[in-house]
Amino acid sequence: MYHTQVKPVLSGLPLEALAETLKPLPKFRAEQVFRWIARGVSSFQEMTNLAIPLREDLERRFSLYSSVIAERAEDPDGTVKLYIRLHDGERIEAVLLTDGERRKTACLSTQAGCPLGCVFCKTGTRGLTRSLDSGEILEQFLHLRSIEPEIANIVFMGMGEPLLNLPELRKTLAVLTDSRGLGLSKRRITLSTGGIIAGIRSLAAAGPEVGLALSLTTADSALRSRLMPVTLSNPLPYLKEVLYDYQQRQGRRITLEAVLLEGINTRQEDSDALAAFASGLEVVVNLIPWNPVEGMVFEGRALREPSEREITAYIRRLERRGLKVTRRRRKGRGIAGACGQLGGAPEVRQPCSGPEAD
Ligand code: SAH
Ligand code: SF4
Repeated sequence: MYHTQVKPVLSGLPLEALAETLKPLPKFRAEQVFRWIARGVSSFQEMTNLAIPLREDLERRFSLYSSVIAERAEDPDGTVKLYIRLHDGERIEAVLLTDGERRKTACLSTQAGCPLGCVFCKTGTRGLTRSLDSGEILEQFLHLRSIEPEIANIVFMGMGEPLLNLPELRKTLAVLTDSRGLGLSKRRITLSTGGIIAGIRSLAAAGPEVGLALSLTTADSALRSRLMPVTLSNPLPYLKEVLYDYQQRQGRRITLEAVLLEGINTRQEDSDALAAFASGLEVVVNLIPWNPVEGMVFEGRALREPSEREITAYIRRLERRGLKVTRRRRKGRGIAGACGQLGGAPEVRQPCSGPEAD
């Protein structure tokens, strides 16, 4: 039913790689194609500054994109979730969030599934199917932009662990930030990691200097190892060291995210450990009350979202320790588009559409 890619796909190629692929065409032709992709044209036919025979030749030899929107779900709170079908039939999800100031943020996936297996995360429970290539990551942004032209920010907080797919993600970031095409500022891009030391070290050494969020959850090592097994091979003291190095290089505040699980990681020990972990770093703590996913169990006990009382008490404890705390508003729950709820199958199947011209 599904075909593996037969023609090379152009969407995720940084300009230099695109120029190489299109050789012997001159570089300025590659620049034109690069700009058209940034504008989200749906076919070579729309590239009106290329002669028609050239458009036809390119169409014979290459594909512009490799994914299609399979379905779209909207939550009354303004969140839009796209189910995107990849060339091999795999499905991923990308979400458009609207904040209090009506700013739009694209939340993108970097892998189909995730190998890290955090016990509270739906994506984690299904394991890793495969990593996405740079075009598949970029196209999520293009698909979202076809329904909302003004996207202010990008966060890599969808399915998967971005730092386990760094080479492809770097290509996508090169395309997103290239002033000859999309020209997005690195300051508007944030990557969220479960805590892969080698990946953060690589970012610190070679960039790009995007915003960094660490899904800390708790800084109590023993508890974190049970909730997020990635801790066993990426111990917190070393993680802190590489965060420090990254911050020295990049100079931006690091976000420490903590999913709050009722009666599990909102104890005095957790606020103490979190404050100790944060000391010496410039951080903001972002609390995310756990978004319910049915049937999730931790050591024999069903996971639950904390009550308002539990949340505010924990916030107060952290603030008393001098930490700046923000709380993520609940968005997209009606369509399972909230943090940690990605990875389920949609109920309805609809025909597909490609990115549209803007
Ligand atoms: N793998 C990366 C990025 C994707 S997960 C990471 O872990 O950072 C994005 C965020 O969703 C993480 O902060 C994660 O802790 C949070 N999350 C996972 N499951 C959740 C759930 N059920 N409710 C609320 N947040 C959740
Ligand atoms: Fe993977 Fe992030 Fe989910 Fe953990 S929280 S399983 S790292 S997607």
